[in-house]
Amino acid sequence: MILTFQCDCGNRTAFFATGDKDVQGREFIEPEDDERVTYAIGETGVMLQCGFCKQKYRLEKAASLGD
Ligand SMILES: [Zn+2]
Repeated sequence: MILTFQCDCGNRTAFFATGDKDVQGREFIEPEDDERVTYAIGETGVMLQCGFCKQKYRLEKAASLGD
């Protein structure tokens, strides 16, 4: 599994599945290069910041996935 991050400035990296799973079988993902993107998880969602131009992107917290 790969989730690609591509900023408007052209900076591009991916989050990939590590192979490690939690007790419910959900796989952990990690950024491929943490100089290219940083992320923060808060009460209202996730914030991603481009490591090159510093643009921030916000992903709002979604409804429960049912667990
Ligand atoms: Zn950027």
